[in-house]
Amino acid sequence: MSTGPEPPAAFGTAFANTMVSVDFENGQWGTPDLTPVESLSLHPGSHALHYGSACFEGLKAHQGVDGKVRVFRMDRNVERMQRSAQVLHLPVPESGLLTGMIRGVVAANLEEVPKAPGSLYIRPTLIGTEVNIGAAAAPTQSALLYVICCPVGGYFAGGVRPLRIAVEVDQPRTTPQFGMVKSGANYAMALGVIMGAREELGVDQVLFVPGGVVQETGATNFLLIDSHRIITPALTESFLHGVTRDSLLRIGMDLGYEIEERELTLDEILDWASRPDAECALSGTAAVLAPVGTLVHKGEDLPVGSGQPGPNTLRLRTALTDLQTAEAPDPYGWLTEIV
Ligand SMILES: *Cc1c(COP(=O)(O)O)cnc(C)c1O
Repeated sequence: MSTGPEPPAAFGTAFANTMVSVDFENGQWGTPDLTPVESLSLHPGSHALHYGSACFEGLKAHQGVDGKVRVFRMDRNVERMQRSAQVLHLPVPESGLLTGMIRGVVAANLEEVPKAPGSLYIRPTLIGTEVNIGAAAAPTQSALLYVICCPVGGYFAGGVRPLRIAVEVDQPRTTPQFGMVKSGANYAMALGVIMGAREELGVDQVLFVPGGVVQETGATNFLLIDSHRIITPALTESFLHGVTRDSLLRIGMDLGYEIEERELTLDEILDWASRPDAECALSGTAAVLAPVGTLVHKGEDLPVGSGQPGPNTLRLRTALTDLQTAEAPDPYGWLTEIV
């Protein structure tokens, strides 16, 4: 039971007091250590700093209406980190190890879990620590796995503001072989395009539609929604398989929406936006489900439907947040209670 402090204003800038970390050395993981959040001591020749052997995860713990704290879909995020580690040839943490670390660090920070719509954002991070700048074409032999946490406020704290999204048809977000990896390198690759679009078009984000096929934005998956359908790109290796996306499709299906996971083209989304009842939204752990008000294509503004947050987007979003805070039942077993 925790009352929780007021969440800070800026996402990701304030950290809960306790972190947990463990080293991988000589072919095996050590024992995780809970410590105050402190600076890392890292050799300047560490593998991650030179050759990009780094990946991370993002998930949340929510304070329920009953005061209990629960982590949302931890197993999915653990699996995804294992897949990221595999693709980057980092040591893959066993599920039990990482799950135990997440549980432990949330338990240690229980008093810092804000009340809804705030939550505790959990950031597992895995980096290659081998000291060898000659290992450009070799996997790191040692690694550090740690989990830090941030008390965060609700994304819609200042009221729901429909987003302005630029459609980028030339550049992909990242390389095809890294699409499914939650790695900082992917964010670095998308940054130039996103900054350019912000400056030129005043947009919030960029939707990557290379070659006319929809992938995702810089950090969220993309969905078309109306009163009876949810349409989203089918899972391919070109984009990150969001846990929020998966959860919304499942909840949407059980609410009676038809779910279409398939290839989504530029023509189709432009067409869709022009319908009066059309809704578009972005899904991710931080944003949950954020309405898109305007698509900017070839320098032209295309309002999506009414240009305002749509009723189906808000309905799906509320259904998900109600489950996360135990306001509604959890028929899927997605929540892990932390005591
Ligand atoms: C993390 C992430 C998402 C959203 O995934 P969730 O599991 O829903 O938080 C989408 N796209 C990218 C590129 C991401 O890194």
